[in-house]
Amino acid sequence: MQHHQNPWQQRAFKVLKQYYGYDSFRPGQGEMIRTLMEGRDALAVMPTGAGKSLCFQVPALLMEGITLVVSPLVSLMKDQVMTLVANGVAGAYLNSSLNERQMEKAIRNAAAGKYKIIYVAPERLLTKRFQEFVQQAPISMVAVDEAHCVSQWGQDFRPSYLDILPFLEGLPHRPVVGAFTATATPQVKEDIIRLLGLISPQEVTLSFDRPNLFFRVMEPKDKKQALWQFISGHEGQSGIVYCATRRAVEEVAAFLSDQGISAAPYHGGMEHALRAKHQEEFLYDRVQVMVATNAFGMGIDKPNVRFVVHYQMPKDMESYYQEAGRAGRDGQKAWCLLLYQKKDVALEQYLLRHRKDLSHLTEEEQAKVTQAEQERLKQMVWYCKTKGCLREYILEYFGQKAPRQCSACGNCLHYFRTEEPTGLDMAQKKAVDLWQSREKKLGQYEDHPLFLRLKEVRKTLAHQAGVPAFVIFSDRTLEAMTEKMPQDRDDLLHIPGVGQKKLLLYGDAFLQAVRTYLRDR
Ligand code: ADP
Ligand code: MG
Repeated sequence: MQHHQNPWQQRAFKVLKQYYGYDSFRPGQGEMIRTLMEGRDALAVMPTGAGKSLCFQVPALLMEGITLVVSPLVSLMKDQVMTLVANGVAGAYLNSSLNERQMEKAIRNAAAGKYKIIYVAPERLLTKRFQEFVQQAPISMVAVDEAHCVSQWGQDFRPSYLDILPFLEGLPHRPVVGAFTATATPQVKEDIIRLLGLISPQEVTLSFDRPNLFFRVMEPKDKKQALWQFISGHEGQSGIVYCATRRAVEEVAAFLSDQGISAAPYHGGMEHALRAKHQEEFLYDRVQVMVATNAFGMGIDKPNVRFVVHYQMPKDMESYYQEAGRAGRDGQKAWCLLLYQKKDVALEQYLLRHRKDLSHLTEEEQAKVTQAEQERLKQMVWYCKTKGCLREYILEYFGQKAPRQCSACGNCLHYFRTEEPTGLDMAQKKAVDLWQSREKKLGQYEDHPLFLRLKEVRKTLAHQAGVPAFVIFSDRTLEAMTEKMPQDRDDLLHIPGVGQKKLLLYGDAFLQAVRTYLRDR
C-alpha cells in the first residue's frame, strides 16, 4: 500500500480545482485546512478578502458528515450559499429569511443527508427543531465565521454567539471547531478562544496589509464637491460612501442622484424591504454607489467594490479598516478615501454619548468602556492628521509591521491636502512610478474588447440564472480569459476560477465569445 505524508492533501487540491477552479492555496489556507483535517480546533485571524471561507469549505467537503457554519447575517449566508451552490456544492442556509414551511423542508432535507454544508444563524442553534436535527445528525465540524461577534470588546457583539458554546457542549459528539475573524486585537482573540471553548487551538494569523488598497485622507472645504469629483473619476465603478448619520446618508444620496450619479441610500431607519431592495440593486450592479451608514456592512461580500469613501470620520480605526476593507476584495486595485473635517470629531463624540446603552454595566465598567472609546477616537483623529504613511499607521495600530516602501497612500505620494503631487523628491517620484506601474498591471484588460464582450456574456448568464454577476465568474477570471484566450474546455479549466460545474454550465458560452473575437479581430 502506498503511503502519503498527508493523505488528504492530494484530495484537498483536487477539491480546490474541481469545485473552485483554483490551482493553489493562498497563505494560511493550507495550514488551516490541515489543522481542521487533523481534528484539531483552529483560530484564523485573516484580513477581509484573504479567503477564510475556503479554509472551512474545503475540509467540509473532504470530511465525512456535515459541517455547520455559524454566520451572523442573513445576507452574508445567502451570498455564500449561492456561491457554493454555483460551484456544485450541496449547501443550504437556515435563518429568519425562511418561512416555517421552507425551514421545515430545509431541515428535513438536511436530516436526509442532502447537504454537506449548512449555514445557520446563531439564534437557531438552541431551538427545539434544530436540536432534534443535530442530535441525530453526523456533525463533524462547526465553523464559526465572524467569530469576533462573540466578544463584547469587538465592534459587532452578538449575544446569540454566546449560544455556540452550550450548543457544542450539547452535541452527542463534540465536532472539530474552527473560528474565523478579521479582528485581531489580543482581547478579542482571548474572548474568542474562551467563549467558544476552543480546545488548544492552532492559531493562524496573517498580515493585515492589503497591498491593492490605496489609502488617502483629504480635508476639503466642501465635502460634497470633493466627493462628486472623486466619483466622477470612477465612472461605472462600484463603490460605497459611508456616512455617520442617517440624515447625511439621505442628503448625500440625493446630492449624488441630482448630479446624475446612480446612487441609493441604505440605513437602519429605512423600511426593511426598501433597504433590502437597495442592497440587491447594488449587489447586482444596477446601482453604482451605495450611500450608507455602518448598518450596511458585514454582509457585503461583493468582490468588485472599487472604492470606499468615508464622508465622515468613523469612530475608530477598527471600524474604518473594516469598512474601507470592503473595497477590492477581488485583489484588484481599489481606493479608500476619507473626507475629514474638524467638526467630524465633535459629531462622533456626540454619537458615542448617545449610541450605546451602558445601563447594564456597573459604574466602574461604564467608566472603562467610555475611556476605551475616547482613546480609540483619538487614534482615529490622528490617522486623519498624520503626515506619515497611512498604511504604516493602520498596520501599527493592529500591532503589525508595515512594508518599508508603501508607495500606495496619499501621504507617501504627497496627495495629502493638494490634488496633485507637487514638489516630489526622487524617492517620492519613484514611489509614484511604482504605484502607477502596478496600477497598469492590475487593470490592463479593463478596456480590452474581449474583456468587455466576456462581461456581456456574464451579464446575460447572470440574468438568466437570477444571480449577481460575480457568482458566475469574478473579474479576475474574465481578465485571465482575456489574457489566455482559451480555445477549448481544457484550456478553460486552466483559468483560475473555472471549476467543473461552471465549465459545464457556462464554459461553452465563454468559449464561443473567445472564438468569435478571434475570428472577427
Ligand atoms: P474572507 O472571508 O477572508 O473575507 P472570502 O472567503 O470571501 O474572504 O474570499 C475572498 C475571495 O477570494 C473570494 O472571491 C474567493 O473565491 C477568493 N479565493 C479564496 N481562496 C482562493 C484561492 N486559493 N485562490 C484564488 N482565489 C481564492
Ligand atoms: Mg468571510
